[in-house]
Amino acid sequence: MTLVEDVIHKPSGLNEIAPDWAKRLVHQKLPFTLSFTWFKWYYELDSPSKCVVGEAYGYTSSYEGECRDCSEFGWRFGDLFLRRSKAGIETNIRMFVAHWNDKHAQLSMNRTN
Ligand SMILES: [Zn+2]
Repeated sequence: MTLVEDVIHKPSGLNEIAPDWAKRLVHQKLPFTLSFTWFKWYYELDSPSKCVVGEAYGYTSSYEGECRDCSEFGWRFGDLFLRRSKAGIETNIRMFVAHWNDKHAQLSMNRTN
């Protein structure tokens, strides 16, 4: 089994990449639409440096313009959250984790930039 397959099949893969968002999106129910928490999450998902992908990069928006895939994943998280698609979010997490391990895994091990 390769490393990527290992991560894909492990539901906790986001824990290492973006632990704060993993706590919310993997281990909690989605907040009620228009609740205070819902607005907070939605605002953060809509902010490139605060969203799931932003956290993975160390809370920066440096990926914008650098990796179109990451920008796309970030945008999709906000869209799926808006539509309350828990299954869609889980799929997006799996795809993002696979993409991250394929293209950016060194970032999380060696954050020197
Ligand atoms: Zn990327």
